[in-house]
Amino acid sequence: MPEFRFDPVELPPTAPALRERVRQFLALERSRHTFDPIRNSWTSFNAEFSRRCGEEGLIGLVFPREYGGQGMSNLERYVVMEELIAGGAPVGAHWIADRQSGMQILRHGTEHARRLIIPRIVTGQCYFAIGMSEPDSGSDLAAVRTRAVRVDGGWRITGTKVWTSNAHRAHYLIALVRTAPKTEARHEGMTQFIVDMSQPGVTTRPIYNLYGGHDFNEVVFDDHFVPDEMVLGQPGEGWQLVTGELAYERSAPDRFMSVYAVLLETMRKLGPQPDAHAASEMGRFVAHLAALRFMSNSIAGKLQRGEQPIVEAALVKDIGTTFEREIPEVARKLIPSESTMGKGNSFDDMLGGAVLRAPAATIRGGTREILRGMIARGLGLR
Ligand SMILES: Cc1cc2nc3c(=O)[nH]c(=O)nc-3n(C[C@H](O)[C@H](O)[C@H](O)COP(=O)(O)OP(=O)(O)OC[C@H]3O[C@@H](n4cnc5c(N)ncnc54)[C@H](O)[C@@H]3O)c2cc1C
Repeated sequence: MPEFRFDPVELPPTAPALRERVRQFLALERSRHTFDPIRNSWTSFNAEFSRRCGEEGLIGLVFPREYGGQGMSNLERYVVMEELIAGGAPVGAHWIADRQSGMQILRHGTEHARRLIIPRIVTGQCYFAIGMSEPDSGSDLAAVRTRAVRVDGGWRITGTKVWTSNAHRAHYLIALVRTAPKTEARHEGMTQFIVDMSQPGVTTRPIYNLYGGHDFNEVVFDDHFVPDEMVLGQPGEGWQLVTGELAYERSAPDRFMSVYAVLLETMRKLGPQPDAHAASEMGRFVAHLAALRFMSNSIAGKLQRGEQPIVEAALVKDIGTTFEREIPEVARKLIPSESTMGKGNSFDDMLGGAVLRAPAATIRGGTREILRGMIARGLGLR
């Protein structure tokens, strides 16, 4: 039977200094009241904070220097991501561009796209959205119906994407589009395009979530023109590209640390002498966190070596987001509190935000059922 490989990796010698640099930056920003760690997570959108991250050199660490990056390793970037998330930093504006879109452009984009876009991502002033899901195609991406036809100098796209987080504030969106008729080989005939959201033929409409927030959208393409320079890879390679992109999307610490502040605050409230039940719950969470961190770290090492750890990333996302859902549920049983939103009590508000966000974690980026199917296939069980 095939097996998962999570080889241990050593963080580079530069890690402690990098960690300290991010901590000092966050302490300074907190002292300036730029953000409140209690009310934020990696999904919180704060353009000014992202610009500050850019100034501090905390974006595009792994991008090559010739495009404005710092040529660091994935493991160095891992340390920075971990500290930003643990510190409750509102990195949502630039997160997608830094975590996955920039890498897609560097690996598969044209030189024109790299030079046009990558230096702007690094400054924290260029944001990306993910255009994978469609009204009848979320889990089953091979069923995408948005299509593009070849025209002189590029392609014209028509169709609809849904659940596109932050598309209303993004400068670009990477869209997975059908460029050849569907055949028995369902995964063939798709292509990824970089869509400039400011160009004609793109309409973004809000989809309000259950608590009235506007995070995601429907994006409609009506004969939208994309020049050849904005195609990723070769036409027809979209499936391979999108699965590679998902390895970046599913394996990072944002998949298990978005409620880290709730865990810490719960421990603080329980104090140094928790009862046996509370101690056992906290011990269990700390052990899970350590295991997840080890696995996610190991994947960062694989990405650094140019591997595509798709099944391992699915496992981290599945276990990580299940872990994230459990923390607020256990916390509110252990500490008498009422989950609230913006009422002023920091623990209740933090718990309120976590309870509302947690269910989405196991859906976005691939549902639990789909990930478990992939894991079973990866193990040769299906
Ligand atoms: C907060 C949030 C942000 C998101 N942001 C983005 C974004 O930026 N860009 C983007 O493209 N998408 C985004 N999504 C969409 C997300 O990726 C999809 O919701 C997800 O992939 C599921 O697709 P679906 O909603 O169409 O559900 P469906 O695919 O219709 O699935 C419905 C249910 O059926 C189950 N199911 C489906 N097929 C199978 C199967 N073969 N075997 C077993 N069970 C199955 C699923 O697990 C699920 O429980 C976001 C979603 C959320 C919640």
